Amino acid sequence: MEKVYEGKAYCPVCGKNTLNVTLYRYHLPAEGPVILFVGRCENCGSRVVDVIPLELGKEVEITYDLDENTLRKIIFLPGDTEIEIPELGAELVLTPAFKGRITTVEGVLRMIQESSPEELKKEIDEIIEGRRKAKLIIRNKSGLLKEINI
Ligand SMILES: [Zn+2]
Repeated sequence: MEKVYEGKAYCPVCGKNTLNVTLYRYHLPAEGPVILFVGRCENCGSRVVDVIPLELGKEVEITYDLDENTLRKIIFLPGDTEIEIPELGAELVLTPAFKGRITTVEGVLRMIQESSPEELKKEIDEIIEGRRKAKLIIRNKSGLLKEINI
């Protein structure tokens, strides 16, 4: 069992950024490669455990119609990933050196925002506030990109 990530995420129970998350990668005889997601919240004490099957080497693409529900989805964002908001012509490419991060879909938009010009920052704010419709496309070749249902 190999530890592949350690960090903080938003707690699905209390909503605070106090969920201590560890991801382990290992191999199950029947299911093949999986990621074990273990989370414990410092604030409310909630425990979250999930087993996420992986198909390594297979390209994964997830598209979100951005609204208040999809903005709260939690994903594991690995390196070597392309992120795009086609409606705004906004793009972010994470190199293979990027170590991966557990974040929400809103968190992904904030990451795009950090490297965007002022006008684009405003448009992304409008999406986050629900005043503008857009899609978010996330594409990764390694198969490590995963939505985490907790
Ligand atoms: Zn909590």
